[in-house]
Amino acid sequence: MKVYNTLTRKKEDFVTADGSNKVRLYSCGPTVYSFAHIGNMRTYVFMDLLRRSLKYVGYKVKGVMNITDVGHLLSDGDEGEDKMQKAAKEQQKSPYEIADFYASAFFEDLKKLNIEKPEVCPKATDHVDIMIDFVQKLLDDGFAYETSDGIYFDISKANEYGKLSGSVLEDQQAGARVEVNSEKRHPADFAIWKKAPKEHIMQWESPWGMGYPGWHIECSAMSRKYLGDQFDIHTGGVDAIPIHHENEIAQSEARTGKIPANYWMHGEFMQVNGGKMSKSLGNTYTIDQLQNMGYSPMVFRYMCLNAHYRKKLNFTFEGMDGAKTAYERLCKSMVSHKNGSAITPDEVIEDYKKQFTEAISDDLNVPQALGILWTMLKNPPCSKIYQTAIEFDKVFALSLDKAEDNLPKVSAPEEVIALAEKMQQARLVKDYQTADALRAEIDKLGFTVLNTREGYQLKNKN
Ligand code: AMP
Ligand code: ZN
Repeated sequence: MKVYNTLTRKKEDFVTADGSNKVRLYSCGPTVYSFAHIGNMRTYVFMDLLRRSLKYVGYKVKGVMNITDVGHLLSDGDEGEDKMQKAAKEQQKSPYEIADFYASAFFEDLKKLNIEKPEVCPKATDHVDIMIDFVQKLLDDGFAYETSDGIYFDISKANEYGKLSGSVLEDQQAGARVEVNSEKRHPADFAIWKKAPKEHIMQWESPWGMGYPGWHIECSAMSRKYLGDQFDIHTGGVDAIPIHHENEIAQSEARTGKIPANYWMHGEFMQVNGGKMSKSLGNTYTIDQLQNMGYSPMVFRYMCLNAHYRKKLNFTFEGMDGAKTAYERLCKSMVSHKNGSAITPDEVIEDYKKQFTEAISDDLNVPQALGILWTMLKNPPCSKIYQTAIEFDKVFALSLDKAEDNLPKVSAPEEVIALAEKMQQARLVKDYQTADALRAEIDKLGFTVLNTREGYQLKNKN
């Protein structure tokens, strides 16, 4: 398998750090102060495609994804208000209630999108002790210094700070909008611990008084705890490259002497109508909102799969309509292959499988893999093709095994609905003779009855 490594700016052969078939994967998780939007979810769909592709080609995966429930400020730097605290104040709840509520909503979204929950999802607030240890060690070893408002990492001590993004240190000036903290030795030095003013709700005891951890230290401390000093892959969105991941590398390398992950993979952003997705523009949709507009989570997932993870994806409702039509065609085709009687030669099937594996092994070329699926489905209806598509769906996770349920319900004439209801009744009392007779009558009227988990569905035969 080849993957693009942001650190080396090259597509590289993937090999695990210890040569085993077990992949240790860390993914930056959400800050749970509001509902995740579809842009965030694109990044987790990417994480999921990576996990599923690794497993498809034979690896086992141990995935860790943090839940940031403390200390992530409104800007990526050290200025601004704590996002959790701000939401807590606005909604008159405790930050813990806010975090629990939005973390549950996030996991619901993962489920809806068939995103596998990573094996370990540690919460930052449960790991403040190891963050304090981490900070103390960096101070002891001279990589950090104390100021009146916190402990800062000294980037001049880091091994080639900026190597992930390739940015030059001089470029990393603190923004002109915010007052530069005069006690910092370099504007890009970043807080690994903040001393808490009294009114700050979340705070912990530390050797430096009451305070709370910096955002970046959370990921360094938790990835190390669950995956070790050096693991295989670290993922996130591209926005994490220049500050968050750069800082994670600097801290972890200072602590352990090793770059924490061998491969750094980043998902490109989702835009809306060609521009930034932002709350102030009112274009940050959630999965629930899309559902209320008639777009199922699978349609959204299908749209994500159609763009390579390293390309920007422009969200538009025309695009969603296109994805919806294509996804329904896909489901329809699956239904027709399910009971198809055509015989596709084994070598033809094997060739599709080979092409599929090659596509996903080429830096997760899922759009190409989807193209292979479509080509395969163009064959005459054949149950072997259906089975192969179900196998491919281990990676796509488009619920193709439930293709029938995913087809839109058609409006059928009253007469047909009445017959279908009668048929259901007959099935309930196991009177299959009557049920079959009714099915034949419905069939004559141009409809098919599909039995689904929710009851039955009527489909137009054409
Ligand atoms: P946050 O909760 O803000 O830390 O974001 C969670 C994840 O979503 C991070 O990995 C971000 O990189 C990613 N993300 C944020 N906005 C977008 C977007 N518009 N498109 C894709 N990913 C995004
Ligand atoms: Zn992180």
